Amino acid sequence: MARILCSIASTAAVVTLLSGPVLAQQPAAPAAKPTRPTFETTKVEGTDNVYIFRYGNRQSMFIVTSAGVIATDPAGYGVPEQVPAYIAEIKKVTDKPIKYLIYSHHHFDHIAGGQPFKDAGAKIVAHKRVKERLAVLKDPATPLPDETFDKAKTIKLGGTTLELTYHGLNHSDSTIVMRLPKEKIIFTVDTVPVGSVMGRGMIDSYPLEWEAFLQKLYVMDWERLIPGHPGAPDGRLGTKKDVQDQLGFLQDASAAVQAAARQGQCWDGVEKGMKLPKYESWPGYANNMQFVLRRYCGLWGRGT
Ligand SMILES: [Zn+2]
Repeated sequence: MARILCSIASTAAVVTLLSGPVLAQQPAAPAAKPTRPTFETTKVEGTDNVYIFRYGNRQSMFIVTSAGVIATDPAGYGVPEQVPAYIAEIKKVTDKPIKYLIYSHHHFDHIAGGQPFKDAGAKIVAHKRVKERLAVLKDPATPLPDETFDKAKTIKLGGTTLELTYHGLNHSDSTIVMRLPKEKIIFTVDTVPVGSVMGRGMIDSYPLEWEAFLQKLYVMDWERLIPGHPGAPDGRLGTKKDVQDQLGFLQDASAAVQAAARQGQCWDGVEKGMKLPKYESWPGYANNMQFVLRRYCGLWGRGT
């Protein structure tokens, strides 16, 4: 899927500016599959100013405007060097200041490491539950939001409008949807694992409410979804079909475990024996079903 207009960064050591004509002059690709750089920044096709910064298996959106940058998710958990790399990537695109850093939700893998953004003058914005949770946990690597909201907040900067909305419980109790109405793009993290089976993130999720959230997400006005982890295959963006697919997966897993749980099959019977053949071809199925089944045993076999 040709969603990448251009790549503006490659490895830490080598910076290249790729475009159509330059790519056409490259020698033929080697037979071996090229290794993916540690991090890269891509401009979202068809937009003037929407970028994805990917580092390892996590990614964030940033928007460059004439009045400054709106960044999201520092995602520095376990890799503090990611955060200065992220800021350096932004600075390759623009010399405008970073005005905002928006947290997608409270999980450290996506929001740890934001202090350099704050030092650069960015205001940190998040859902109010993010601040409540972080205030208790006091993680030294994760600065508290400067500003929070409950249901909705709109950021307007340099001609760009970014809507932040909260639609209830899902993957976490603090996850928001960031929507660019003009571009019809949303950035929502861990709520729609594009093209793959969700995994450890199930542990503290709210499965029934998550289904309701996906139904709300489906009817919102957008066309492309930037996920917090690259979509499968090939780092693709998500679509409304992905929302439908994930909703179907949750519903099928939930119904199967519910029936088994009512026959006393939780935890062991379900965790060791249950299969959902319809989803066997999805990436992550072999490794991640254990987490899905455990979470639903918690719900239907335990009551939580
Ligand atoms: Zn998460």
